[in-house]
Amino acid sequence: MNVQCDECKIDFEVKPKLNKPVPGIEEHYFTCSHCGKKYISYYTNKNIRRKQTEIRHLYSKLSKPKSNEQQQKLLEKINNLKAAMKVEMDQLRSIYQG
Ligand SMILES: [Zn+2]
Repeated sequence: MNVQCDECKIDFEVKPKLNKPVPGIEEHYFTCSHCGKKYISYYTNKNIRRKQTEIRHLYSKLSKPKSNEQQQKLLEKINNLKAAMKVEMDQLRSIYQG
């Protein structure tokens, strides 16, 4: 995937990178290959990573045949987890992005 850098306005290929600013916290980011500007994608902690695993698990359940009602329940669960995850990610971002 290519994006245009805000800083130097040149297109560059996004290569996801991972940093651990403090133990237990993972910073997902990429940098512009021309000027080196850093873009933070998101942060995770143990709790968020647990939710990500659970969401993947629910999606795999969702891919199997089931009643509409079961499907609705699964989707609701996924959406709730995603919303909770977003709140936590925003909190981490405000703490670590600086
Ligand atoms: Zn740049």
